[in-house]
Amino acid sequence: MCRHLAYLGPQVSVRDLLTEGEHSLLQQSFQPRDMRRGGVINADGYGAAWWDKSALHRYRSVTPIWADASGCETLSAVGGNAILAAVRSATIGMPVVETACAPFIYGPWAFSHNGFVAGWPDSLAEPARTLPVTDLMTLEAPTDSAVLWALLRHRCAKDASTGEWAAAVAELTNRTRESAPGSRLNFLLSNGSQIIATTCVHSLSVLLTDDVVLVASEPTTDDKGWRHVKDGQLIVAEPGRLRITPLNRQ
Ligand code: GLN
Repeated sequence: MCRHLAYLGPQVSVRDLLTEGEHSLLQQSFQPRDMRRGGVINADGYGAAWWDKSALHRYRSVTPIWADASGCETLSAVGGNAILAAVRSATIGMPVVETACAPFIYGPWAFSHNGFVAGWPDSLAEPARTLPVTDLMTLEAPTDSAVLWALLRHRCAKDASTGEWAAAVAELTNRTRESAPGSRLNFLLSNGSQIIATTCVHSLSVLLTDDVVLVASEPTTDDKGWRHVKDGQLIVAEPGRLRITPLNRQ
């Protein structure tokens, strides 16, 4: 299964954020500690989004992160005070293409999904009918994550508040786990000033200080401050501030 992370804090280069630390996202791509349901390595591409003076930029590649030397060079020259990134292990039956790699972006928002929708694609046929045909025709890839992202985008306008996005993410998680039981739905989103995440069957940890918040599938460092988030939670975080509430109370 994929691994993802989001960071808010002092300016950092994308490359440093992805590669530094005893257990960085790079390390997690080939030696994850908490892979579930069959996944072994995250070799099906990766991506990063970063906000520099509030403008959102993105880089994605279908090359495994450890093999993308040119990409890593580019990513050492860019950065910001907000970054969201993911390494991908494609769910069986889903294509290994750049456009299936998170983050997906819309306005100031970047999105990643760690998991899969049980019974795909039939289990998403009904919800997908609520989408305008243009959204379906502009889907980035034929994957569960791309459809979930289209549903979320359709529900929220670009300028919707973080609270509205958080409520929509909780609703999407709850609806999907009800209509497709057994799904794994760890979502991660940011608009560059706040991070929203869910835990639904996959692991997630948070490192919080007054200046920094890091939300990641697995701790990226040996820092003792990392706290594990239990299953079934909605997280809204920014430096110095973390709110964790049960998904079933949304
Ligand atoms: N199902 C998604 C995909 O194939 C996410 C994969 C994952 O979390 N391993 O892209």
